[in-house]
Amino acid sequence: MLDHYHNVLSGKERPKFTDADLNSLEKRAIELSSPCRLCERRCGALRLKGEEGFCGVLKARIASEFLHFGEERELVPSHTVFFSGCNFKCVFCQNWDISQYPENGEPVEPDELAECIKNRWDRSKNLNWVGGEPTPNLAYIISVLKRLDAPVPQVWNSNMYLTVGAMEIVNEITDLYLTDFKYGNDECALRLSNVPEYWKIVTRNHLLAEGDMIIRHLVLPNHLECCTKPVLNWIKDNRPDAPVNVMAQYRPEYMAMKYIDIDRELRASEYIEAVKYAKDIGIRVM
Ligand code: SF4
Repeated sequence: MLDHYHNVLSGKERPKFTDADLNSLEKRAIELSSPCRLCERRCGALRLKGEEGFCGVLKARIASEFLHFGEERELVPSHTVFFSGCNFKCVFCQNWDISQYPENGEPVEPDELAECIKNRWDRSKNLNWVGGEPTPNLAYIISVLKRLDAPVPQVWNSNMYLTVGAMEIVNEITDLYLTDFKYGNDECALRLSNVPEYWKIVTRNHLLAEGDMIIRHLVLPNHLECCTKPVLNWIKDNRPDAPVNVMAQYRPEYMAMKYIDIDRELRASEYIEAVKYAKDIGIRVM
């Protein structure tokens, strides 16, 4: 479990990006970004010609970066980089101020961010790319990695709605996937995140992801049968190696009050049932 990640931390293995052909990966990521088909929205924005995509991202903007102590125990302290903009439109997003308002971030030159990472790498266990969503910023991330000689493991903290082409690139640079697996069916994903074909794409990418993985599942009120249990069943059958963080911290934020099923806190009984179900079917609950 998380063998490669721990080996990188102990110096027995190198982070994947240090052996990757970053120039070639950057070129491929730039090609995929205009017309953009980095994620399965495939909105086709001509980002090199100044068109913002569905996610609102043109060039990378960073909302914050800091040493995060609130991630899973294996990951902290984690040097976390929050990008603005997201390809999902979750009505309950807790980071809605940056995910849905990509202008709420600052452009930071790759040299500057690389320098900042170098200054902190000996105090952090990993570099954690998140948002919003990191996917629209893949070329920028590689550009930063090209400037980085610190042997810090890379965490891809994502909704996993990438295209296969983007997944192939991310596989070359990622030591640990930290995935957000929310929905157990397409109807809930479309209604609450405006995401089509969620199940097919996100399960496919959990199988395409090479290497270590931690899966996060946020338990939504009233979604145990339609989402939590199908997600856990799928993990048990398909990624039994992955520890799962069954998350209880749902709060009805942003536009959740317009959706009666999720317009309340999660009940303790719902969370207890979710964790019990996971353990009963043999999931490694973190
Ligand atoms: S990453 Fe953004 S710009 Fe690219 S296809 Fe997805 S929504 Fe469109």
